[in-house]
Amino acid sequence: MAQHFSQSKEFRNLTLPKIQELSEQESWECFVKLRWGNLTTMPCPSCGTVDKHYPRRARKQWCCRSCSKVFSVTTDTPFLDRKLPFKQLLLLIYLFVAAPKGLAANQVLALMGVTFRTAYQNLGKIREAIFETQDCSAMSGVVQIDGGHFCGKPRRPRRRNHMSSEIANHRLRNRKASIAPPKASYSIEPWNAEKLKKRRIVLVLRQLSNITSRGATRTIIAVIPAEDQKNAIPIIQKLVRRESTIQTDDGRAFSSLTAWYEHQTVRHSAEYCTDDGVNNNQAESYFSRMRRAEYGVHHGMRPQYLAFFATEFAWREDSRKMPLREKFIGLIEKLFQCDVSRAWRGYAQGHRLGFEYMDYS
Ligand SMILES: [Zn+2]
Repeated sequence: MAQHFSQSKEFRNLTLPKIQELSEQESWECFVKLRWGNLTTMPCPSCGTVDKHYPRRARKQWCCRSCSKVFSVTTDTPFLDRKLPFKQLLLLIYLFVAAPKGLAANQVLALMGVTFRTAYQNLGKIREAIFETQDCSAMSGVVQIDGGHFCGKPRRPRRRNHMSSEIANHRLRNRKASIAPPKASYSIEPWNAEKLKKRRIVLVLRQLSNITSRGATRTIIAVIPAEDQKNAIPIIQKLVRRESTIQTDDGRAFSSLTAWYEHQTVRHSAEYCTDDGVNNNQAESYFSRMRRAEYGVHHGMRPQYLAFFATEFAWREDSRKMPLREKFIGLIEKLFQCDVSRAWRGYAQGHRLGFEYMDYS
């Protein structure tokens, strides 16, 4: 069997000891070079003048030669007003990149010696940057689409009811019906049923590679309130070009796609791949990893931040064949493309996002 890229020598071109060897000054220089390409000449974030601005070395800042405003390498970026040293930020980004199934704040606090809130907030900023910089241009060729149910999982009821063979069958196959059973056949406490209101659907679109058995090349996600035609079709029409081929399962949400696209379906109750090779396995592969992260790493995701988590895993899928160093640098460059964080700035002072990113694509 061919070796998985994440286990190859080419993948391991950046390691934790290399980050730990850096001094605070070197870590800062690393940030400056990745933002502006050099240590001396840069554009002022305020007026845009490119010059050798007056350095304030002790404070790692510059004073603009044109408008006299003071700025630093984190001005107008998600890490504005950072409290963590630059070396700790590099370490956090490295740990995030190196984690195969996501990184929980609970793990970071032990590894870096920071509080839970610091870890959660800074990891959130990284996820938000991935969300803000995702490529949402329309897909073409063969695109596989599916919806996955996340958040709002009710606990099992206190009383164990007699389980019908139908529900037992669903549960064995890990189907949605076993998570949200019909009321008529399964009683669920009202307070527990409330949790279902937080249920959201992650719609994933994956464009396949032109080369057979290379998997998907691009992934776009959208968070929608329900898996139905009203919510799914307009997003698909926006994100997939008309001449494309779409492969889905036989879910009702996708049944009308035939009107606009070459639509191929696979009936999952009977098979996972048709004799003609029609399948939905790339979309399922995305959900497989994200589901394991939801249960095994994060132990739950809040609807408010679900879009951030979902794009994080889209990025992990799309960069699965990139060496660690390139992923690490690419992620810092993404952070520098973003403005001040909307969701996480002032989080420690009680500021919250206050809305969910839905149907944003
Ligand atoms: Zn200026």
